[in-house]
Amino acid sequence: MTFVYTVFFIEWETCKDFLRDIRFPTRSQIEVHVFHRKDTDQNQLRSMIPDKRHHDGRPIIMKHSSLTSFPNAVEDLLVYYASSFDFSRHKKPDVYLVSGQGRRYEELAKILRKDKRVSAWVIDGRRTTLLDWLDANCVCKMCKFIFESAHEGVQHYDEFHMK
Ligand SMILES: [Zn+2]
Repeated sequence: MTFVYTVFFIEWETCKDFLRDIRFPTRSQIEVHVFHRKDTDQNQLRSMIPDKRHHDGRPIIMKHSSLTSFPNAVEDLLVYYASSFDFSRHKKPDVYLVSGQGRRYEELAKILRKDKRVSAWVIDGRRTTLLDWLDANCVCKMCKFIFESAHEGVQHYDEFHMK
């Protein structure tokens, strides 16, 4: 994998299409945390989020349910989880805070940059998908694939999309 370790924290209810139909490889530098309401539709959650694991057994996408169903419960959980997350396992990871209301997590991003020394950005999960934030050579936006390496991605492009 050529891109840096990348962690996504996603507010599920506000941007459900951010992960839609994307296929992840079992060896990748991507870790995804989805935060959803306690009373969210479980069937929808199951059908839209693949239950796939890294080769070492860790789930690629981890789901976190809010404890209560208060309006800010998911936001609070995401802020708490991200700010106490151990980023030191990876050298200078990229961190994306994904929600439907762009500016909401700006303060958290600032805190993460300052206290955790990671590159953190707030992104709009309604207008983009996860594929837009990875190295273009490592994804195929047409097939919604993420590849293990840029080499594999380029090979795929040559094989299926060179016309
Ligand atoms: Zn393709």
